[in-house]
Amino acid sequence: MGKRYRTGDQALVREINLSIILNCLRETSPLSRAQLAEITGLNKTTVSSLVRELIARQFVREIGFDSSGGGRPAVLLELNPGAGRIIGMEIGVDFILAILTDFKAQILWRHREDTDQVEGQEAILAKAFDIVRQALAVGESTHSPFLGIGVGVPGLVDVSSGTLLFAPNLKWCDVPLRELFSEEFNLPVFVDNDANVAALGERYFGAAQGSKDFIYLSAGVGLGGGIVLNGQLYRGIGGYAGEIGHMTVMSDGERCNCGNRGCWETLVSQTAVVNRVRKAVEAGNASLVVQLVEGQLERISIPIIVEAAKEGDEVARQALEETGVYLGIGIANLINAFNPELVIFGGVVSLASDYLLPAIEKTIEERSLAWPRRMARVMASSYGPDACVMGGVALVLHDILSRPALIT
Ligand SMILES: [Zn+2]
Repeated sequence: MGKRYRTGDQALVREINLSIILNCLRETSPLSRAQLAEITGLNKTTVSSLVRELIARQFVREIGFDSSGGGRPAVLLELNPGAGRIIGMEIGVDFILAILTDFKAQILWRHREDTDQVEGQEAILAKAFDIVRQALAVGESTHSPFLGIGVGVPGLVDVSSGTLLFAPNLKWCDVPLRELFSEEFNLPVFVDNDANVAALGERYFGAAQGSKDFIYLSAGVGLGGGIVLNGQLYRGIGGYAGEIGHMTVMSDGERCNCGNRGCWETLVSQTAVVNRVRKAVEAGNASLVVQLVEGQLERISIPIIVEAAKEGDEVARQALEETGVYLGIGIANLINAFNPELVIFGGVVSLASDYLLPAIEKTIEERSLAWPRRMARVMASSYGPDACVMGGVALVLHDILSRPALIT
C-alpha cells in the first residue's frame, strides 16, 4: 500500500528539483552542472539527470565551455530563449502596452496604443485582443510555442478566477478577463492588479532582485501599490491588499474616483502633477511648458513637464517638488508601517524621478521614524513604465518555473 505514496513523493521531489534548477538558471547564468550542484546542494548525478530532462524538453541549452577554472572545461548552461514566447500586457486607464519576449524575457516586440476610458469596455478589449493577435503573428515566425499571456489591470482582481472586480478609473466592474482572453486565444492567461504585476516584474528582473521586503508604487492615472513581504506578494484576506493610493492623506481633499476624498492618489497622480502646472500657468506664471504645448494646455503631460524642468523651468520644478512632498508623506507612512528594504517608484510619473526624489527624500527624513528609515532605500523603477508588462511575462514564467513537469 505504501508504494503508491512513495512513487507520488518521488515525482513531486523531481518536480521540485526541476523547478529549483530552472530558477537557479533564471537568476544566474550561465552555470555549469558542478556549479548547479554546489548552489542547490543536490548531488552531481541528480543534477545531471535533471539537466538532461530539461535539455530534452528544450527549457535549457548548452552554450559552450567555461575554461576559466583550469582542468577539464565545464559545459555551461542557460535557459533556452527558444523554449517559448510569452506575452506581457498592461491594460492601463488610457493606454494598452504589450511586449512579446522569449523564454529569457528578452523583448522581441513592443506595442503601445492610446485608449480612452470613454471608448467603453468592449472597444478597449477588442483593441487588446487585436494587439495580442499582432504579437502572435510576430511570434509565429520564430516557430517556438506560446507559453501564455500575463495581464496587469488597474483595479481589484480576484486572482483565482482572473476576474477584474472593480477598476475605479476605468469604471469597469466584474470583467472575467482570464475567461475572455483564454476563450479567444486558447493559451494560459494570468491576470492580476497592475502594481502587483509590476512588483513581480521588479522582483524577477529589475531593481528588487534579491530583495524580500519591498513596496512597489506606480503613479500614473491613479496610484497603485504592490507590497512584497518575506518574498511574497501580500494580498490580505480577500486579495485586495496594496490599495495604498486610496489612503486618506487630506481629510477635506479632492474627490477621488473611489468615492472618498483626499486619497493619496489625488495628490500624486499624473493628473495631480499636470493640474499643478496648469494652475500655475493660469495664474499668470510664465512657463516653458506653454511653448512646448503650443498654448494648448490640455496637451500638458509628464514628459512635457520633465522636458521643461530639464531646462530649469520654475513652474515645472515647483510642481514636481510639491508632488515629491506628497509622495514623501505617503512613503514615510509606508516605511513606518512595513519597515521595507526598498521602495520602488514606477509608473509614468516616475519619468520625473530626478526632480521628485530630492523632495521625497527630504520629506521622508522629516516624517518617518529613524530606525526603519535608515534601512529603507527609495529608488526609481528599473523599467519605469515597462515594469508592469515585464511583470506580465514574470507571471507566466513563474507558473512554468514552479511546475515544469506539468508543462507539455
Ligand atoms: Zn480613492
